[in-house]
Amino acid sequence: MKLSELVAALEAYAPPGYQESYDNSGLLVGDDRMEIHGALLCIDILSDTIDEAVNLGADVIVSHHPVIFDPLRNLNENNPAARVVSKAIRNNIALYSAHTNIDNIIGGVNSMLCLKLNLNRIRILSPLSHGLKKLVVFVPVSHADPVRQALFDAGAGKIGSYDQCSYNSEGFGTFRGSENSDPYVGEKGKIHHEKEIRIETVFPATLQSGIIKAILEVHPYEEVAYDIYSLENEYPLAGSGMTGELESPADEKEFLRLIRDSFNSKVIRHSALLNRPIKKVALCGGSGAFLIPEAIGAGADIFITSDLKYHDFFKASDKIVLADIGHYESEQYTIELFYKILTKKFHNFAIHFSKVITNPINYYF
Ligand SMILES: [Zn+2]
Repeated sequence: MKLSELVAALEAYAPPGYQESYDNSGLLVGDDRMEIHGALLCIDILSDTIDEAVNLGADVIVSHHPVIFDPLRNLNENNPAARVVSKAIRNNIALYSAHTNIDNIIGGVNSMLCLKLNLNRIRILSPLSHGLKKLVVFVPVSHADPVRQALFDAGAGKIGSYDQCSYNSEGFGTFRGSENSDPYVGEKGKIHHEKEIRIETVFPATLQSGIIKAILEVHPYEEVAYDIYSLENEYPLAGSGMTGELESPADEKEFLRLIRDSFNSKVIRHSALLNRPIKKVALCGGSGAFLIPEAIGAGADIFITSDLKYHDFFKASDKIVLADIGHYESEQYTIELFYKILTKKFHNFAIHFSKVITNPINYYF
């Protein structure tokens, strides 16, 4: 199959538009027209990972962390990232990364953490603002149903646990075609009144091009009248961090033991325990210190993340337990997610988990 098919499957699941502005997710090395026979999945790409791909006959490596993150000004192989990129190019191996775009979705990195801890009532902790748009399209009455359905099929009209949401009002449109027109109804050069439905619905901004394509394919008019509005609403299905609840409250120390075992953490650094049960859990795979205020605001009893600095622990202020489980540990299950996405879509394609240990942090007890 083509590399473009693998990229399309990953991006349909984790749209690149959800990545943070500082990120560099996407196809970093390779030609998406190339034929691929196997993929190697990992969190980080090291030089040894390229050797592993060569030995396995995998021609694409899918990683969580983008190997090109800080801009590369040259491919001088004294720089570890340049060394990896050059080696990949020499061996004709493509490199693809899904980083903050797969962090920021329901069903992404944080959902994997919730799944491992059996959390219920999952919600995004800090929803994206500007992730939603509104579409208004004017359709002759005869075509309102197919246009509405095409919009829903393209992903418009989802609000929380509801789908196929729209508002429809009837009115009439006026138009007059020029000499060069070919009107679907009426005659060119003559003003025409047509009964139309104004269909309004919302859609995730990342789906915009597909939504417009869907309308244009079904709408009968030569020139389709539609408006797209940016909304100030938060988009609850994408954003940073996540919250969930335990089925029954757990003792703080027991819960710390559970997360240590669930994530194979050698050590958990945590703020002062509060001598109260853990029920609501906030979490963020990777560096989540920026979400401490949101975790407290959401009423979570504990916030599980990584890369907390000394001063971050003061921010717990006896309101929450902060638990740093390790960066790699908090993101390790992302490769299981890549595996699920790819095996669901491609049945006869070799997919391997990398065995190269890439966690750069070691502990001495
Ligand atoms: Zn990370």
